[in-house]
Amino acid sequence: MKTKQIYYEDSYQKEIKCNILSVEPKGILLNVVLDQTIFYPEGGGQSSDKGHIGEAKVEYVRLSDGEIIHQVQGELKTGENVTALLDWNWRYKYMKIHTAGHALHDVLMTMFEGLYPIRGSHGKKAFLEYQGELDASKKDEIEKKVNEALQADLPVNTKESTYDELEKECRFLPPHLPKDKPLRMIKIGSYAPMPDGGVHVKTTKEIGTIWIANISSQEGKVKIRYGVAG
Ligand SMILES: [Zn+2]
Repeated sequence: MKTKQIYYEDSYQKEIKCNILSVEPKGILLNVVLDQTIFYPEGGGQSSDKGHIGEAKVEYVRLSDGEIIHQVQGELKTGENVTALLDWNWRYKYMKIHTAGHALHDVLMTMFEGLYPIRGSHGKKAFLEYQGELDASKKDEIEKKVNEALQADLPVNTKESTYDELEKECRFLPPHLPKDKPLRMIKIGSYAPMPDGGVHVKTTKEIGTIWIANISSQEGKVKIRYGVAG
């Protein structure tokens, strides 16, 4: 990867000076590669960042062939030095929703047996999906337990990791871990670590309050929809 991932070094950095390594027109937009970036590319259930590179508007950021592609509207030139600015309100909101999803998962794993994670989405309609059964009447109890965990101000640690390390330390490994980017893990408080390449808040207290919208079951799968307030 040509681009230094500053969002992993500091997920709170809102502005950066960077150099434009390449610019390629793509329809009405430009595909831009930077020497370093604070923009998180969509992935792992977390939304793409938005913001500005110089005067140009960043519409979408994605990983493609192992490179971070910023799709921008405006004019930029290869070799230019520019200031990039993150849409921090957007990032912070989805960072909180993502960390909240992991806290919810960790608490669920301590409360119930026989739930196996299938996927999670931490965008506008956030949810966790599991193979297994979970009674919808448990909603309030889960909500209460997760909010207790959030209020306990648990540290959220993320770091780069190897496949072997993940295999040894994590309870669940997704069947297809991405090979085009370095692997990472998240660990909240003393809960089990989990593979994850997202960007997160530093402590659970920052999240505020989580609410469970509903718990719905279908064909041996259960979906827990959640949101974050505050
Ligand atoms: Zn995640």
